[in-house]
Amino acid sequence: MPRLLLVSNRLPVTVKADARESMVIPSSGGLATGLRGPHQRSDGLWIGWPGDTSKLKPAQLAQVNQELADLKTVPVQLTASEVSRFYEGFSNGVLWPLFHYLLQRVPIDVHDWDAYRRVNYRFADAVIAQYREGDLIWVHDYQLTLVPGILRKALPRAKIGFFLHIPFPATDVFRILPWREEILDGMLGADLVGFHTYGYLRHFAKSIVRSLDASFSIDRIPYQGRTVRLGVFPMGIDVASFEKLATDDDVLAQVRSIREEAKGQQLFLGVDRLDYTKGIQYRLFAMERLLEREPKLRGRVRLIQVAVPSRERVDAYASFRRQVDETVGRINGTYGSVGQAPIHYLYRSFSQRQITALYRAADVMMVTPLRDGMNLVAKEFVASRTDGDGVLVLSEFAGAHSELGEAITVNPYDIEGMAASFKRALRMPEEERRSRMRTLRERIQRHDVHRWADSFIATMEHLPQAEPIGD
Ligand code: UDP
Repeated sequence: MPRLLLVSNRLPVTVKADARESMVIPSSGGLATGLRGPHQRSDGLWIGWPGDTSKLKPAQLAQVNQELADLKTVPVQLTASEVSRFYEGFSNGVLWPLFHYLLQRVPIDVHDWDAYRRVNYRFADAVIAQYREGDLIWVHDYQLTLVPGILRKALPRAKIGFFLHIPFPATDVFRILPWREEILDGMLGADLVGFHTYGYLRHFAKSIVRSLDASFSIDRIPYQGRTVRLGVFPMGIDVASFEKLATDDDVLAQVRSIREEAKGQQLFLGVDRLDYTKGIQYRLFAMERLLEREPKLRGRVRLIQVAVPSRERVDAYASFRRQVDETVGRINGTYGSVGQAPIHYLYRSFSQRQITALYRAADVMMVTPLRDGMNLVAKEFVASRTDGDGVLVLSEFAGAHSELGEAITVNPYDIEGMAASFKRALRMPEEERRSRMRTLRERIQRHDVHRWADSFIATMEHLPQAEPIGD
């Protein structure tokens, strides 16, 4: 297997430090889990930002750098201003809302493009410094769209893959971006560009035709003397690890205690980063509508909503948090009593073990993003239901929806329709619940995260090597 150079904004580690000691902790997120195998097997390197290390003392920094090297990772350091402009300003302030169709959240006056470009060059330089003939380079996500193009100029024969983990929006949305040509040209530096769904691939191909005046046929784009391949690779999860957790004695004890606390009530569950794309606000409105319409359900249903703090330094997130807080307060004020509140709102993060206990304890899982590249939570819920029960309510605008058709489908903008779907989920007969869950489980088991990583890498490996013009 060729050596793999993985490139992502964040390294799959967290650097923890206090006055006395520092350490590097490998993270257990989806991407880290999926790529750990190929990273190790290929004796490859992972290149990315390790997080803020500016407060480390020189001796601590040396220790951290050693540990990063031992983990076969290469840190790309970012200054505070780069984090603020490249990451928060352009990546999360402009590309994130635009690619999720939330145009009103895209700032009109954007100053951070030059920082985005500069940091993309920095990542590319770090790759070039490590590159050896024959390596496969796999670049990830919207923060690094220019990296493949920069690499292609410096390493014309290198095999380069790019995967976009968020939606690629419809052409009329994408072309709002003043830097659309640069971004498309950057992504087309790759030999293989991967997406979660066929819809995203088609949007990308149409944008190429429209903005770059190029052509495409099915999955191929002839571009600057090369052929760029497009592919659909829906990302899965580590199914085996969720199944193992879901049958763990300690987790099952947690499940019993969650159920005990909600005695006599049916449990809805939402697990999201506190992000305006996740549809938390509309979901709450739909819960409110359900309680308003169905007095008999008052006191008999409970929504546990986990909201993981996220991007707190981006303004839009702080104001969104206040809106969600207010909505929860209003619903609990109207439909709660001294002894119970319909919404249990938890603004914090939980371990995978705790999340799995929640998945197992829930009657109905609500995954209702306004737009989501994939949504792994939906798949984790299904993987955790080794008991074969539970109902998944899933937004038609989540990438996961193209694989999980047996869920109850909702339009997250349709409050009335969502309230009706929540009621239907509560009333679904056991036989139907089990039959839907069986099919969902079979599907996610077949397409787990290891298969996702292996099939992208295998596709890249088998592509012919680029022949630069004039060579
Ligand atoms: N997650 C977690 N702790 C929490 C809440 C969520 O570890 O308290 C994890 C969850 O298990 C999932 C990920 O965060 O793996 C969220 O991924 P998803 O694709 O659903 O959304 P994203 O946050 O990447 O937009």
